[in-house]
Amino acid sequence: MSFVGGGAPEEYPIAPESRTTTIPTGGPVCDCAPAVDVPGAPSGGFCSREPAMPPAVRTLRRGLREWMTDRDLDDDLADAVLLLADEAVTNAVEHAGGERRCTVEVVANTRGCGGGIAVMIRDDGTWRRPPEDPGFRGRGVTLMGRLADRSSISTSPAGTTVRLCWAVPSMN
Ligand SMILES: [Zn+2]
Repeated sequence: MSFVGGGAPEEYPIAPESRTTTIPTGGPVCDCAPAVDVPGAPSGGFCSREPAMPPAVRTLRRGLREWMTDRDLDDDLADAVLLLADEAVTNAVEHAGGERRCTVEVVANTRGCGGGIAVMIRDDGTWRRPPEDPGFRGRGVTLMGRLADRSSISTSPAGTTVRLCWAVPSMN
C-alpha cells in the first residue's frame, strides 16, 4: 500500500468502533470494565444477557442483587448499583423498541481500576437511532454521574455501553 498522493480515506470502510460517541455523565470518568475471569478475582463475576424486552429489567436486577448479596456489599452501594443498572437496562429496552434480536447484557465484578466493583451494561440495539441521538434519558445520565464513583457512556452503531465503578474499602 502506498500513501503517495494522500489516498482518499473514503476508499476504506470505517469500522463501527471508530464511530463511537461519548455521552458525558457529569461525573468523574472511568472506562474500566469489570474484571471477569481474572485470576484472583474473588468468587467470580456476574454476567447475564437477556433479550432487550421489558422482562429483562426485572430478571437482570434480580441476578445482580443476588450477586451483591453474596458478596455482602454495603446496602447503600447495592441500592445505587441497582438503580443505575435499572436505568441502563430500561434504556436498552427502549432502544430496542420491541426488536427481538436486540440483547442487553449486565456484567459485574471487581473493577479494572482497582479496589472496588465495576458494572457494565451494554446493548446492541442502537440501529433504530443514529448514534448522535442515542435517546438516553436525561435523568438516568444525571444519576450515573452523581451516584457512581466514576462512569462513562459510549454509543456506536454496534450498541451502547455504560460503565460504572465504585470504590469498596474492603477490596483494597
Ligand atoms: Zn473504574
